[in-house]
Amino acid sequence: MSAYVEGGSGLLKTRRATGAAGAPSAARDPRDEVSALLDLGTAGPGADATDEPTPIDLALRAELAVHGLRATPGLSRRGGAGPSNDGHWKLAGPATAKGCGSQTTLPMSPDSPFSLDADGQLTRDGVVVEDVAVEAIERPAFYDLSTAGGTRYEDLARLHGTNVLATTVVQTCIRYRDEATRCRFCTIEESLRAGDTLQVKRPEDLAEVAAAAVRLDGVTQMVMTTGTSNGRDRGAKHLVRCVEAVLAAVPGLSIQVQIEPPLDLEWIDRLHEAGAAAVGIHVESTDEEVRARWTPGKAEVPIERYEEAWRRAVAVFGHNRVSTYLLVGLGEEPDHLVAAAERLIDMGVYPFVVPYRPMDGSLAFADGVPAPSPAELRAVTGRVARKLRHAGMRGADQVAGCAACGACSTLGADGG
Ligand code: SF4
Repeated sequence: MSAYVEGGSGLLKTRRATGAAGAPSAARDPRDEVSALLDLGTAGPGADATDEPTPIDLALRAELAVHGLRATPGLSRRGGAGPSNDGHWKLAGPATAKGCGSQTTLPMSPDSPFSLDADGQLTRDGVVVEDVAVEAIERPAFYDLSTAGGTRYEDLARLHGTNVLATTVVQTCIRYRDEATRCRFCTIEESLRAGDTLQVKRPEDLAEVAAAAVRLDGVTQMVMTTGTSNGRDRGAKHLVRCVEAVLAAVPGLSIQVQIEPPLDLEWIDRLHEAGAAAVGIHVESTDEEVRARWTPGKAEVPIERYEEAWRRAVAVFGHNRVSTYLLVGLGEEPDHLVAAAERLIDMGVYPFVVPYRPMDGSLAFADGVPAPSPAELRAVTGRVARKLRHAGMRGADQVAGCAACGACSTLGADGG
């Protein structure tokens, strides 16, 4: 399966793993095959290992992150947990080999000044933007498959970017039904309401999807997030089952789990024992006024409890295997956000700086709260990226998860 996008300097071609994987040999252990596929690395099948994409200019990247792109993506998502309502693309700056580019998510925005011309070249207000190549990421082959019970793989897990399999193992959250406790940026249950996913994913089904996604589409890592449960594990128990089942089917696949601080911190240890390689414990903001306004339910969990969970997670998973989202655009003072990021970095926790995205279906969208300005996003990203570089912490070293993927953040444009 191939896609062709005309770039400014010629024809860009990408191949998905259906061609690269080749025909399986009956003599080979299927596990060796999976390992060979995983060894292909983050550039994905079909890419030359020496082709490192050069990032695009941070100012432009910040504008694209905020304004989005007026174009039809090959791969997109709507609703669900985390950043959404976006198209998935490969973006590359100058001197990048054709077919290479960093996986990037861009809001699907009919009002964006950014579009693609007939040759696939990025334009702004109709004028070509030089030194940037945009390449569509194709719909993966595993989306065409279903379980024996008839559940579409696409309803169980999605491809994010070029190499990430993402799933929400429980699509409901104790904080969502009541608007007084719901996070105002969140749309976790909207994809469930739309009939695009299941409330609870069965571990054996996820194992089946993961094996297919690795085999057919070159997936190299997996993200498992969850809505928060009312148990003391806060959702960790089902994550443990899902991690174990996927690793039994695809040994060696790097998996990140995402969870609120469990009431019993031992669950962090159990997630690690199950085989998860990294963990995200997402606070979004450490500013108490911002937390009370944007995440009123989660704000009842004291910041001190988050710090205990992060420290426990670093002790168990290791330095730079723990991360948290920090959202730009919630009204937090940039100096406060940057100082929080620096404390996290000192703790060994990767601050995944992401712009707040107004998503249809969220409370904040209904209130008309706009995204941050590109200038604010650029400034905060630049300051946090500098600190990350100084500390020698790269998102890629998380091995799995949003920081390792990087598609929803602008940090990658500045070496973060
Ligand atoms: S950064 Fe996270 S949410 Fe965004 S595309 Fe990557 S895995 Fe998905």
